[in-house]
Amino acid sequence: MGERKHTCHARRCTVAVPPTMLMCRKHWFMVPPAIRSRVWRHYRDGQCNLSPPPSEEWHKAADEAIAAVAAKEADRG
Ligand SMILES: [Zn+2]
Repeated sequence: MGERKHTCHARRCTVAVPPTMLMCRKHWFMVPPAIRSRVWRHYRDGQCNLSPPPSEEWHKAADEAIAAVAAKEADRG
């Protein structure tokens, strides 16, 4: 139970972000621009509450964004 807080999708990040944002600002700006624009292109307003749920394309772009951030954070060791 409890409130469903939407948090940053980057690994181990627990920053609360608005439902319109995939990640907190810090992590979002670590995502390469090409992937960021794909996330936006496939994003639908309020998609979390819509049926059908977010498109396959959006999930793919979002997964790549999350992986890109994880790779950068690993680099910095
Ligand atoms: Zn974050």
